[in-house]
Parts: sequence; C-alpha cells; structure tokens
Amino acid sequence: MADKTLVCRDCGTQFVFTQSEQDFYTEKGFTNEPSRCPSCRAARKASRGDSYGSGAGRGGQRQMYPAVCSRCGKETEVPFQPTNGKPVYCSDCFQLERGGGASHGGYRSRRY
Ligand SMILES: [Zn+2]
Ligand SMILES: [Zn+2]
Repeated sequence: MADKTLVCRDCGTQFVFTQSEQDFYTEKGFTNEPSRCPSCRAARKASRGDSYGSGAGRGGQRQMYPAVCSRCGKETEVPFQPTNGKPVYCSDCFQLERGGGASHGGYRSRRY
C-alpha cells in the first residue's frame, strides 16, 4: 500500500490520497475512494444543504452575531442575536460576570 494519486471529478486537480487517509477510510468502512480533492470536499461540506437534506442534528458552526461588549466596549461575537437593552459581554467579561466578583481573588484584577 502506498499513497495514491487521484483526480478530482469536480475541478480535475490531481490530489494525493495518502496512506493514512486510506487507513482512515478503511477504518470508517468506506469502500469508495474519495472522488474530490480536499478543497472541493471542504467546499461541499461548507455549502451543505441541497444534497444532504436532513438538517437535524449536527448543524456545523453556529451563527455568530457581531456585538459590542457592554462591559469593556470591545467588539466581540455572540452566538445569539443581541437584543436592545440586554447586556452583551465578550468572552472575557462573560467569564468575569459569571464567576462573580465577590470571590476572594477579586481585588487583584481590578488594580491597574
Ligand atoms: Zn477539486
Ligand atoms: Zn468585555
């Protein structure tokens, strides 16, 4: 067994089906060799929807919304639509808010 060179059926690029990928395929029980180059595969994966109908379960990446942290003013992204009047925190501040400032270590981080 050795690396194989295959030709992508989408873009015609030659790509290497490496030994380790072959092992991976065998392990997963896939009998077909990949018919597309890695970039075409990634592109198909990204634009999922028409060929793979069932949207249930694994949704891939979450939609992120741009927001400005209500605490430090930093630009951030949150996994939900920010609503007016509701505070939005960046990940740092979210942890601070969550951890509560009342614990014993509180003083240190406030000193600048
Ligand atoms: Zn391709
Ligand atoms: Zn913040």
